Amino acid sequence: MKVMLASPRGFCAGVNMAIECLDEAVRRVGSGIYVYHEIVHNQHIVQRFTQLGVKFVDSPEEVPPGSVLLFSAHGVSPEIRRLARERRLQTVDATCPLVTKVHLEAIRFARDGYHIILIGHEGHDEVIGTMGEAPESITLVEDPHEVKSLPFTEHDKLACLTQTTLSVDEAAAVITALKARFPAIEMPKKEDICYATTNRQETVKQLIPQAQLLLVLGSQNSSNSKRLAEIGQAQGIPSHLIDCADEIRPEWFDGVETVLITAGASAPEVLVQECLQLLTSTYDAEVEETQLREENVHFNLPRELQQLGPAPATNLHSSN
Ligand code: SF4
Repeated sequence: MKVMLASPRGFCAGVNMAIECLDEAVRRVGSGIYVYHEIVHNQHIVQRFTQLGVKFVDSPEEVPPGSVLLFSAHGVSPEIRRLARERRLQTVDATCPLVTKVHLEAIRFARDGYHIILIGHEGHDEVIGTMGEAPESITLVEDPHEVKSLPFTEHDKLACLTQTTLSVDEAAAVITALKARFPAIEMPKKEDICYATTNRQETVKQLIPQAQLLLVLGSQNSSNSKRLAEIGQAQGIPSHLIDCADEIRPEWFDGVETVLITAGASAPEVLVQECLQLLTSTYDAEVEETQLREENVHFNLPRELQQLGPAPATNLHSSN
């Protein structure tokens, strides 16, 4: 059996920054750090930090006054920031800068009198955070069919933004429908779907015709990981989103000669390597990595980390 290993895959710059940020906070403060929602949408990362004493909460109101609260990579609404201030929490913002960019666009469009059509998935942390920037001025749309029932005319001042981790093709279909009905709708200057989402999808799209099975490492609540599995499903290729090698089932490989493996932007590389080990030891698989894009994006850690006190001289925890 042949295994095609997609590259780029796995951690993006925003996930790297958020994880390094929480690692650094733990080094400086020790246990007793709180994170608003999951730091990134991956069970293994969340478990690792839980074992280090980090607590994940659904509201700043669960956090004792004066404690340290990190905002996750997906960003938060101004209301969450207000609640944190009210409780005098020391906040550290690990929001991915590419999510912050969408927040700033929402603020700018709303300030300039636009009504914003946000393309995204209802209930996703990022969408909740972005909508919270201008709740009266944003309408969420998930698919092209919803466009015809939007209560606007072509004379209304409209703008369009998207969640960063959408399917590039599905977002394009919604944008086409929006432009057809509202030709003057304003688009952001630069694409909102992030480079990592785009690159991982492009790579799977190019390689999937050669595969009979797609395995995507990632958690079920990871939006960009789900979109990767959907690419295979749309081509009629059996595609499984798995958290780790333990979830692999032998019957998936019946009659399969070529497997494509990739990983969502929040899935650690160690989990990919465990899958490869399983496939090489059980099926004598030959692994061939195909790199279709290089990624050199890096985000600096947030300055607020400095306020948590000096970093100890020795590194107590690994970053991955
Ligand atoms: S997937 Fe994109 S938007 Fe999300 S954290 Fe990574 S780089 Fe940022």
